[in-house]
Amino acid sequence: MARKQGSVCRICRRENQKLFMKGDRCYTDKCAFERRGYPPGQHGQGRIKFSEYGLQLREKQKIKRMYGLLERQFRNLFEKAEQMKGITGSNLLTMLERRLDNVTYRSGFANSRTEARQLVKHGHFNVNGKRVDIPSFLVKKGDVVEVRDKSRSKVKIAAALEAVKRREIPQWLELDSASFKSRIRDLPSRDDLTAPMEERLVVELYSK
Ligand code: SF4
Repeated sequence: MARKQGSVCRICRRENQKLFMKGDRCYTDKCAFERRGYPPGQHGQGRIKFSEYGLQLREKQKIKRMYGLLERQFRNLFEKAEQMKGITGSNLLTMLERRLDNVTYRSGFANSRTEARQLVKHGHFNVNGKRVDIPSFLVKKGDVVEVRDKSRSKVKIAAALEAVKRREIPQWLELDSASFKSRIRDLPSRDDLTAPMEERLVVELYSK
């Protein structure tokens, strides 16, 4: 499936926010956003004034790119969020968090969501003892996500578990790194998501 090629750091600079797409590098002073925290391109350092539509579009692009989804996938998730009880924007964000690729990243089994998606697709994880290789699989409360026995020696996973000490594991997950398991203690709520996101703008954009 077509994914964005080229420097992902440009995306952070475009969206004016660190989106943590380069693994451990994002936490060092090599981060391109830390070095050049202005949009890429010739006019990047000039003042950019967005219309209301522009603001909505940028916010949607930012959230979609942060979780590494294509437009169609993001839109489908939004439509599901609309059909659920509660607030559509919060439903959307919590469903994004519940995706298996995100859970493996948040648990520290991968250094970025891109890496997590690849590891999931290659079948390195079990959910409740069964192999699941679908990145969009939504976890439920009480599920246990586990690195499969034969994948535990993978250098990438060991490096990610080492690097995760530099970032926080969310409260709704319970990582047991010695047994390569992460339990979904509770479903994430909107308050658990600390990255700046204005989901209201996404709802407004898609409701036009
Ligand atoms: Fe974004 Fe990470 Fe690149 Fe920094 S290093 S600009 S956070 S992807």
